[in-house]
Amino acid sequence: MYYNIIISPARRSISLPARSRMMNARACCLVVVFVMGTLGRLAVAESPAPHVPPHAIMTTVDADDVEWTEGFWADYYRRNLQVTVPHVWKVCQLPDNAATFHDLRMAAGLAPKGPPGGVRWSDGDCHKVVETMAYYYATTGDAQLERWMDEAVDVIAKAQQPDGYLSTWVQLSGEPRWSEIHNHELYNMGHFMTAAAVHYRMTGKRTYLDAARRCADYLYETFSPRPKELAHFGFNPSNIMGAVDLYRVTGEPKYLKLAEIFVSMRGSAPGGENQNQDLVPLRQEQEAVGHCVTATYLYCGAADVVAETGDTKLFDALRRIWVDVVTSKMYITGGTAAVHHGIAYRRTLRPWPKDPVHEAFGMEYQLPNRTAYNETCANIGVAMWGRRMFTLTGDAEYFDTAERALYNSVLSAVSLEGTHFFYTNPLRRCGDEVRLLSNDTYERWADTTDASPLNCFCCPPNLTRTIAKLYQWAYDIGDDTVWVNLYGGNVLDTTLPDGDAVRLTQKSNYPWDGHVSLTIDKAPSHPIALRLRIPGWLADVSTAPALRLNGEPVDTALKPGSYVELKRIWSPGDRLELDLPMEPVLVAANPLVDEARGQVAVMRGPVVYCLESPDLPEDVFIDDVWLDAASPITARPGDGPFAKMIVLHTKGWEIESGDWTGTLYRRWNPANARPIDLTLIPYFAWANRGKSRMTVWLPVR
Ligand SMILES: [Zn+2]
Repeated sequence: MYYNIIISPARRSISLPARSRMMNARACCLVVVFVMGTLGRLAVAESPAPHVPPHAIMTTVDADDVEWTEGFWADYYRRNLQVTVPHVWKVCQLPDNAATFHDLRMAAGLAPKGPPGGVRWSDGDCHKVVETMAYYYATTGDAQLERWMDEAVDVIAKAQQPDGYLSTWVQLSGEPRWSEIHNHELYNMGHFMTAAAVHYRMTGKRTYLDAARRCADYLYETFSPRPKELAHFGFNPSNIMGAVDLYRVTGEPKYLKLAEIFVSMRGSAPGGENQNQDLVPLRQEQEAVGHCVTATYLYCGAADVVAETGDTKLFDALRRIWVDVVTSKMYITGGTAAVHHGIAYRRTLRPWPKDPVHEAFGMEYQLPNRTAYNETCANIGVAMWGRRMFTLTGDAEYFDTAERALYNSVLSAVSLEGTHFFYTNPLRRCGDEVRLLSNDTYERWADTTDASPLNCFCCPPNLTRTIAKLYQWAYDIGDDTVWVNLYGGNVLDTTLPDGDAVRLTQKSNYPWDGHVSLTIDKAPSHPIALRLRIPGWLADVSTAPALRLNGEPVDTALKPGSYVELKRIWSPGDRLELDLPMEPVLVAANPLVDEARGQVAVMRGPVVYCLESPDLPEDVFIDDVWLDAASPITARPGDGPFAKMIVLHTKGWEIESGDWTGTLYRRWNPANARPIDLTLIPYFAWANRGKSRMTVWLPVR
């Protein structure tokens, strides 16, 4: 399915009035924004001034400040818009898809009433679809997207109950409100608030926003007395982010207060559990436990509260948990959900409560490959959390981790043609000789209707909105500062907080090629700083990165895992060239990671590679393959499904081990090792050639 939207329109026919980012949300005013859509239609919209979080050290660029032009993210942005978004919209109209607008239509009285066809969190996933389209509308002004959004918003507003409540599974099933945390009421209403805030920012239309405000007002009435019986509500707590998002576009202080209440209520009453991170108050938490989507959504929401309030205890807790995750509970792909089902083994609470968890963090260094859960939404949650911690601190390590997740465990969830999805993202896939665990599939699936192996559609619209909004992650701005976070072909055309215009053109084929060119098109007449991310993965390559200004080497340290700052008066035509050596690297894991002992993974830049069975001779079994550590690894352009990518070639060994059926142990015999050629593909691109076997970690000799 292709949807013909032109990606690089003449975006502005009328110059925008300067919008001061020094203006905070409370003082925000409405300005008139004219957007020339791709179809030549002039849309008129009202939009609030961008919000400046007072305790973040940078500000997100405005909605249409960055345009992907060419390269990796431009291709994903385009495919997402042309293929994935229309596909997801269509699937979410099916009454028996796990996420379905049909439930909202029934609740709205626009379809005959019946039992809900979607899951309990269907509403939240439908809101994510609208949020995705709003991001695209900001850059395209596309009429079809506008019609779809108008249709969805009309249904949502009509489905809402008079007091502001909206969670259709509860409304249609007849279950009492707030009777069961797994009904996901706050997840649904959290995404409602976020999507409505984004929709208002991108379109200027108020219907969705006004409905979300009624919802937030209802939630404030319900939760501001801090009723003990509701202390544990907020499973997958998008409600914290949602309340802050609504605060940021309305300036209404009680929405920020609501977000803070949501954070503080967790763990405030007996009966909490590790699974939902509400056994221990967040400010006292020492480690990452429980469900990884619930966790990362909580941490993202708490980081948003920190950005607005400067709550240092909350930030310190987030930092402790972050260190716990990245030093002992994260896969090389950025996934964090090690277990499908297990028990929370806390370090800091003894004796251990017998507390079951699922889709969750494991113990430290418990990172199994074949049975990794790594739900796509949790991997996205890691990227969102890293992004937020970065804006609070400016520390590159956070953005490096967001990048690790994006290029690996996030993109692995969508097929290269853009219409099929993974829910779990393991690092090894075997065949029928072992059981698949919950939500595992050999191949990606297109929908979650009754014929599908899955009954959860939370991940696809989370992917679409993440790819859609990445242009706002590419850069950040601050006082006389532009942060360059993501590399890829794009144009930045923005206004700094003091009102100065900055325009620069970036050209790069990152991550396949490490050459980045930044040309200044427009800059103020006083010094401003460009801060370029020097990725942390460079610490493992043998060649040093290099930076040139107008052809001359820049004499400054390029420390991996930092931002290098160049502050000067920039002139139009000034050109910065950054070379980030893309060198295949064999990566080892901490020896305490049992499942990676004696093995290596191969990375090139931020991309993790894997071995997949279609790249092996038919008579070579993937479990018999060893990597030859002494052989060079060559990088070549791929072809077929891997066109535009870099594929790696090296040598390995086949140590044939024969049939293991019914055998658990036997003598190891490396004497019959025979050399073979190996081809490694990017991990995110596996499973695009039918049912296959795959492994990221390979034994090495
Ligand atoms: Zn999901």
